[in-house]
Amino acid sequence: MRITLGDILSGRVRVIYRRPRRVLKETPEVAELRKAAKAYLPGRLRELAALHGFTVNQVRIKHNVSNWGSCSVKGNINLNLNLMRLPSDLQDYVMLHELCHLRYMNHGAEFHALLENVCPGHRELRRRLREYKLL
Ligand SMILES: [Zn+2]
Repeated sequence: MRITLGDILSGRVRVIYRRPRRVLKETPEVAELRKAAKAYLPGRLRELAALHGFTVNQVRIKHNVSNWGSCSVKGNINLNLNLMRLPSDLQDYVMLHELCHLRYMNHGAEFHALLENVCPGHRELRRRLREYKLL
């Protein structure tokens, strides 16, 4: 079937444009961040978990532009390799945020109270984190 511009303009044919998923390239910089992230982040996460009495299942290093970290109901935590570009207090803040999700899978009052308890001043840390962009 040949589709003409007239078909499209008249609505006889509907054009669905699907935005391509952004492909993240494994540049040398990203490869370097991944290597450093794998060497440091899982150990630091488990250290923070032990310190505050959280039980973590698996820890994975991810590369995406949608979040610094994520947590599943199975107790698995994903950490973005971009964390290696942050100062250590912001790295810890993100990891403690995800650890608190092991107890509360939302951002409600109880979640924030727990996070403030394990990470005092977390709102200021969150404000500082917004100044960084995910690569
Ligand atoms: Zn969260």
